[in-house]
Amino acid sequence: MSTPQRHEFQAEVKQLLDLMVHSLYSNKDIFLRELISNASDAIDKLRFEQQKQPELAGAAGAPRIELAADREARTLTLRDTGIGMSRDEVVKNIGTIARSGTKEFLTTVKTAGQGEVPPELIGQFGVGFYSAFMVASKVTLVTRRAGEDHATRWESTGDGAYTLEEAERDAPGTTITLHLLAADEEHGVRDYTNPVVLREIVKRYSDFVAYPIQLGDETLNSQKAIWDRPRAEVTDAEYHEFYRHISHDWAAPLRTIPVRMEGTLEAYALLYLPAKAPFDLYSPEMKRGLQLYVKRVFVMDECRDLMPPHLRFVKGVVDAHDLSLNVSREILQKDRQIQVIRKQLVKKVMATLDELKRDAASDYLGFWAEFGPALKEGLLAPDADKDRLLDLVLAASSEQPGELTSLADYVARMKDGQDAIYFLTGASKEQVARSPLLETFRARGIEVLLFADPVDELWLEAAPTFQGKPLRSIAHGEVALGSEDERKQAAEALEQQQRAHGDLLACLRVHLQEEVKEVRLSSRLTSSVACLVSDEHDMTPRMQRLLEQLGQAPGKVKRILELNPSHPLFARLQAVFAEHRDDPRLAHHARLLLGQAHLAETGQVPDPDAFAHALTEVMLRSL
Ligand code: ADP
Repeated sequence: MSTPQRHEFQAEVKQLLDLMVHSLYSNKDIFLRELISNASDAIDKLRFEQQKQPELAGAAGAPRIELAADREARTLTLRDTGIGMSRDEVVKNIGTIARSGTKEFLTTVKTAGQGEVPPELIGQFGVGFYSAFMVASKVTLVTRRAGEDHATRWESTGDGAYTLEEAERDAPGTTITLHLLAADEEHGVRDYTNPVVLREIVKRYSDFVAYPIQLGDETLNSQKAIWDRPRAEVTDAEYHEFYRHISHDWAAPLRTIPVRMEGTLEAYALLYLPAKAPFDLYSPEMKRGLQLYVKRVFVMDECRDLMPPHLRFVKGVVDAHDLSLNVSREILQKDRQIQVIRKQLVKKVMATLDELKRDAASDYLGFWAEFGPALKEGLLAPDADKDRLLDLVLAASSEQPGELTSLADYVARMKDGQDAIYFLTGASKEQVARSPLLETFRARGIEVLLFADPVDELWLEAAPTFQGKPLRSIAHGEVALGSEDERKQAAEALEQQQRAHGDLLACLRVHLQEEVKEVRLSSRLTSSVACLVSDEHDMTPRMQRLLEQLGQAPGKVKRILELNPSHPLFARLQAVFAEHRDDPRLAHHARLLLGQAHLAETGQVPDPDAFAHALTEVMLRSL
C-alpha cells in the first residue's frame, strides 16, 4: 500500500468548497439528491459501455444504489454499482471543474459578493459532488473503474486539498462515505443517519430514479417514471394519482397529456389540464410552472420557462434528458433546449385544446369558463400564435343570448356583404347585451359578439383579424351597414339631417361640454333616444378604469353623445328649440339624455346629483 499523496484543488474548486462549507443555504438535504444522481449516471454509463464491452457485464452485480448509516460513527455511506473512476479520472473529475455551468455559477456568486449569495442559488444550481461538504466534515471516496482491478481512495476535509492513495474494492463502482456534521436543524442539517430522514429525502427528490435505492432490505424509491411509460401501459388511475401528487388538487384533471420528444433532443413530459382554476390564477403569487427532471432526477419545482404565462394553469413534469443537472433558473431562460421543449409542449397543449373544442364541446365549455380569460392573455403575448388562440376563443353573441360561439362559427353565419366581425365590450355580459348600440344590428339580424372580461379590452384594442376579417368595435367611430349603395345613401341622409339640426346639436353640446366632445345624430339606434360612443381611436371607458386601477392616469377621454333622429323625443326637442333657442328646459334635457345614455351603458350615472337635479326640474315643469 502506498502512502496518501496530498493534492491541491484547482482554484475554482476551492471557491466552490468554501461556498459549500460556509453555505447558509437552508435546504442541505439536496446533497443526497446530487450524490444519488451521480450514482445513477454512473450506472447509466456502465450499462452503455457494456453494450460495446460485454465482458464488463455482471462485474458489478445488479444495478443499485445502497445507503448505509452508522449512528455511532456518524457516517453515511453511498455505494453504487456504476462505472467507477480510474485514478486519473478521480483527479480530473473530483479535483477540477470542467463544466461551464459551474464556472458561470461561480462568476454569479462572485459578482453577487462573497457572503451575499442568495441561498436559493445553491439549491437551484445543484453543485454536484461538492455539496457533500454542506453536511460532512470529511468525505472519503473509494472507487474502482470497471475493467480495472485496483481501486483509488480519495479523501478531503474540504479545506483546499485532498489525498489520494491506492485502495481495494471488491467490485467496480464507487463508495462515498460522509463523516457527518452534528445535526443542526436550525441550519438545515438534519440527522442523515436517521432512516426516516433518508426515506423522506429519497422520496422527495429521487423517487423516479430508475435504479433501486436501498437502505438495508428496504427499497426507498418507487423507480416509476410514469412519463417514461407508454400511455397504453398506464392506467387513468395512475395518471390521476400522479396528478394529485404534483398538484395537490383533489379533483381529477380534465385531460392528461403525455408528450414524447425523440430525435435531436430527448425529453418526456406529462402534462395535465386541471378541471378547476386555482383561486389565485390571476395573482402574481400563483404557484406556476412545471417540475423539471433531468433523467428522472428532480431538478426544480415551478420551472416557469417551460410554459408561457397564458398557459400557466397547465401542471406537470418535464424530463429533459440532455439538460445538465447543474442548471440555474437564470440559465434556463436562455437555454436553447428549453426553448425547443417549450415550443413542443405549447404545441401539444394547443392541439389538446383544439381537440377538446372539436370533440368534447361540453368539456371545452367547462375549460373555457375556468381558464378562458387566462388563455386570452396569450393574444397579447409577443411570441404566441394568435391565429390558433383566436380559434379557441368563445364569446357570447347578441343573437344567441346565453350561448357561446366561436369566431369561426360567427364568420360562417355572417350576412352577405358583411365585411367585419362586430363586437362590443363591457363590464358584464348582461350589461353588454342590453346596450342600445346593438339596436340597429339586431334590426338587421347582424350578430355582435359580446365580451366582458377585462383582458378583452386589451387584446381587442390591438385590432386583430380573424380569417381575414377585422374585428370591429360597434362602440367606436361610425357604423355603416348594408350594401355599398345603402351605406352611401344612409350616410348622405344622416349628413343632411345633421346639417338641418346643426344648431340644436351645437346647443346641446354647449350644455354638456365638460362631458362630451360632440353631440351628433346616430345611425345605430332604433328604439332608444340616446347612446354614448367613443371616437375611432379613443380608449373605452372600461379600459380607462383598468388603467386607473393599475395606478396610471390616462387622462379623461370625452365621449360622443349620439341621438336618434327618428325618436319622437328628438322631434319635441326640435320644436322647443325652434320656438325659443334659450329655453332653459334644454339644459335639463341635455343632462337627462346624457344620463340615460350612461344608464344604458353601465347602469350608473357618473354625476348622480346633476342628474337628479335635472330630473326634478323637468318633473316640476311637467306637472
Ligand atoms: P456532475 O455530476 O454534474 O458532472 P459532480 O461534481 O457531481 O458534477 O461530479 C463530477 C464528475 O465526477 C462526474 O461528472 C462524474 O464523471 C464523476 N463522478 C461523480 N460521482 C461519481 C460516481 N458515483 N461514480 C462515477 N463517477 C462519478
